[in-house]
Amino acid sequence: MNDRQRTIQQRACRRKRKYTEAQARAKVRQINAQGEFLRAYKCQICGGWHIGHCRREARLHMAFNRLDRERRMEAPA
Ligand SMILES: [Zn+2]
Repeated sequence: MNDRQRTIQQRACRRKRKYTEAQARAKVRQINAQGEFLRAYKCQICGGWHIGHCRREARLHMAFNRLDRERRMEAPA
């Protein structure tokens, strides 16, 4: 991690709520079920877990998976 990345992470860490891994994952599941694209990640700064928005590529990937899942449910093999 370079200095710039560390500065960005420190800033995010101070702003964000700290969770345990289980709390963060449960929260993300709950929020994503309402159509959001969040992810839980382990913080390099404080060692806790935070919730953040997915990067664009990840969002697209998740959106595709969701559509694919829905399509399968509508037309079972
Ligand atoms: Zn942190």
